[in-house]
Amino acid sequence: MVAQAEREMVQQQFEDLRSTCTAGSGILLPGEEVVSYYPPEMEARAEEFGLAGTNVDGTQWQVGDCDVRFPLHSISKVFTYGLALEDNGLAETLRRVGVEPSGDPFNSISFDETHHRPFNPMINAGALVAANMVKGATKEERAERLLERNRVYTGNPSLEIDRAVLDEQLVSNDRNLGLSYLMRSLGMLHGDIDDTLYVYLAACSITVTAPELSTMGATLAHGGVNPLTGERALPREHLRTVISVMSMCGMYDAAGEWAHDVGIPAKSGVSGGIMGVLPSWFGLGVYSPGLDRHGNSVRGVAVCRELSSRFGLHVFADPEESRFGRIAQPD
Ligand code: GLN
Repeated sequence: MVAQAEREMVQQQFEDLRSTCTAGSGILLPGEEVVSYYPPEMEARAEEFGLAGTNVDGTQWQVGDCDVRFPLHSISKVFTYGLALEDNGLAETLRRVGVEPSGDPFNSISFDETHHRPFNPMINAGALVAANMVKGATKEERAERLLERNRVYTGNPSLEIDRAVLDEQLVSNDRNLGLSYLMRSLGMLHGDIDDTLYVYLAACSITVTAPELSTMGATLAHGGVNPLTGERALPREHLRTVISVMSMCGMYDAAGEWAHDVGIPAKSGVSGGIMGVLPSWFGLGVYSPGLDRHGNSVRGVAVCRELSSRFGLHVFADPEESRFGRIAQPD
């Protein structure tokens, strides 16, 4: 159990992080300016910022815009991959999609030619294969199974697919369509392309709040069991696979830099969300719509970097340096 004093100290740090990371250009390093918004209309909401953390004991911290809902977009790839593993087993899933970082942008059209499969399930090519592998009689049933599973991760039974976001994506989807047809011609994708895209994009269109995103992270940190509801979202045997792939490939073509600077397995989405997972400790959810050139939230990356350094959270930090759960004092 997180002690009262510790709870307050973390809350104070969160408040401080919010003001540091949202004041002007905040703690952004040179070259970290916002280069885009997705969709472009989100620029009008540039100031939105929400940060939440959920401990594996269920303690939750929130600051900023924690009621704002935003689509998961690429963060959904983590959970779609989890369900593909559960439906097909590790061997069959590995046969169809690898666990190797590609170093390419998320929407790149490149494949692991040696094994004849997409490099990993955190880029679009691999996520489309994972969506293709989720079982169900119809595309609606497959999307519904994913939604149900996402409800377990968040602990929110009312979680929904935002139909407007889904419809918008279904009509502005040329690159994913091209990628899918190419993959089917190469034998990497099977069945109806529109069905696969529907399932993939339906998962991308599930909307969450920053606290819900942090609960999803905490569920992965807590062995696959939601710490708020006690419900299992991912079978134990797939936990390592999901978190390690996320840690190697979760931040697009900035995954290496992230691993070095922040050192917390994480996944981002173009809506400006980042989910962090610190195994055995907690999950993080950040939302701020301004994106860097990789498609990662600029303030989200900044706040995670600062949080990691203040609390010594880097998974490969010298134990002397790691303060969370021991002294729990920032510098
Ligand atoms: N729905 C988006 C797409 O498939 C997700 C992209 C992202 O978040 N990087 O293009």
